[in-house]
Amino acid sequence: MRLDLDRTPSGQSDLPVDGRMAGVLGDEGPEEARVHGSLRVDNLDSRFVLRGELSATITVACGRCLNDFELAYVVPVQLVVLRDSASEEGDSDTPVLHQRGGVVELGDALREAVVLAVPQARVCRDECRGICAQCGTDLNTAKCDCADEEIDPRWEGLPG
Ligand SMILES: [Zn+2]
Ligand SMILES: [Zn+2]
Repeated sequence: MRLDLDRTPSGQSDLPVDGRMAGVLGDEGPEEARVHGSLRVDNLDSRFVLRGELSATITVACGRCLNDFELAYVVPVQLVVLRDSASEEGDSDTPVLHQRGGVVELGDALREAVVLAVPQARVCRDECRGICAQCGTDLNTAKCDCADEEIDPRWEGLPG
């Protein structure tokens, strides 16, 4: 994923983003995000400002039922690319990239944005019932004897 500064029109333009990024969940798994969308590029005199929202999709295990599902989420992106590689210009909130030979490699910065935006709550759907804490049955697809109620203490100790 690169931005070619010399080919970027002055003023505003769009930079399409379409790719895959590996290892988005780090140690949690070999997860690969599919990312697409486009960024608005502002070509100013000394800098390029890239911003926009990308769509990312990863396959993750549901936090309740543990089944894999496709999780789609939004990745806000804001980057600054400096034309003068010696300049230290920039503000603290926005990652600043430097060009090399008129080309800027965006992959690492985009990947970081994709990783940062991964939602903490990863549930396949709001009404997911999860798995039974006692017997491990997936309650979305099956019922188990222990699922409906807490064990009634009055039944304890009775012969089965
Ligand atoms: Zn689930
Ligand atoms: Zn159960």
